[in-house]
Amino acid sequence: MTNAPFSLYAHIPFCAHKCPYCDFNTYATARVPEAEYVEALKKELQRSAADERFRGRRLGTIFFGGGTPSLLSGAAIDSIIRAADDLFPIMSGAEITLEANPGDVSREKLAEFASTGINRISFGVQSFDDARLKLLGRDHTAEQAKEAVALAHEAGISNVSVDIIFGTPGQLLSDLERDIDTAASLPITHLSTYSLTIEPGTPFFQRQERGLLSMPADGLVADMLERIPELASRHGFARYEISNYARAGKESEHNNVYWIGGDYLGVGAGAHSYVGSARDGFFETGDRWSTVALPQTYIRDAGTSRVISWSERVEGKSLWFEFFYLGLRRIAGVTASNFQKRFGLSMWDTYGDVIRELKGEGFIREEGESVSLTPKGIAVADSVFERFVL
Ligand code: SF4
Repeated sequence: MTNAPFSLYAHIPFCAHKCPYCDFNTYATARVPEAEYVEALKKELQRSAADERFRGRRLGTIFFGGGTPSLLSGAAIDSIIRAADDLFPIMSGAEITLEANPGDVSREKLAEFASTGINRISFGVQSFDDARLKLLGRDHTAEQAKEAVALAHEAGISNVSVDIIFGTPGQLLSDLERDIDTAASLPITHLSTYSLTIEPGTPFFQRQERGLLSMPADGLVADMLERIPELASRHGFARYEISNYARAGKESEHNNVYWIGGDYLGVGAGAHSYVGSARDGFFETGDRWSTVALPQTYIRDAGTSRVISWSERVEGKSLWFEFFYLGLRRIAGVTASNFQKRFGLSMWDTYGDVIRELKGEGFIREEGESVSLTPKGIAVADSVFERFVL
């Protein structure tokens, strides 16, 4: 068993209301069952500390995601961080991120979060256009979003990320350009951009079925995808992953753990975990599992094995594929030496034919010993990844 640091993800599945496009595991809640939920998270941390895959290891990053983690009090966040630190010492300087809704943070609340050790905030801004925010069912305004970034700085949290959504109903390229320009002109370090997908079961899906949503044409969404990195770069944000941009040295360390095939423990309702297992220094298997999705069931079953809703073991070709395609999500791509170091296999013997084909078609480029997606490859990333299924 390795003693390398791992990452902790804590899922907080509560929101003040459900946005009409959202299919995340999150529930509109008038009263967050804070005490019970925090207790359940702690029980799960305790249970994981008895698991030999995590025992004795330190935490490299922590991420509170949701849902809306900023609905929790500073005391609740503090209590979770302390419990985690007691069991898995948090490395000095570790990145500790909290996702927050710009509408429910105040100077005092952000100061409380900062005092718990939160040193990075990710705001779900989505747009700086009030009409668009309303259409998306968000309960904050553009002004509140700008104010939230300023308040985070006042509270001593200068590592701030902003999420922007694009490809929304009726959106023009110029609307998106304004959103990116506004976001990038704020004192933020990181920008995530997501294309709106209409998921079955959401109110947006029903509206689309009834012909009530005028979604932008595929060509326009493709233009947006192409335009974002140009604008971000003009403001000093380098694209480091398909959907993510950062100022120098401010990439999300936590998310990088997912993309490089690192180990993470997920606690909270519907949270996922992953641990790789090596023999003689080379990875042979990966275990992944998820916890039950419903918060009340999670609260009831936390601390027992009943809390696990499914698990699976990945090995062989599936394991190589996961490492490879997640690595290709990063703009730096995958290097032959990393692949060799991880699996004791030659990347070129494993994927050489597919890489050469995709290179010929302009989807992949080779630079030194690394292979990465070209802009053309990024635009159709999922279908490029499928080609690596052996
Ligand atoms: S705030 Fe975020 S997680 Fe909550 S419903 Fe809206 S999109 Fe989903």
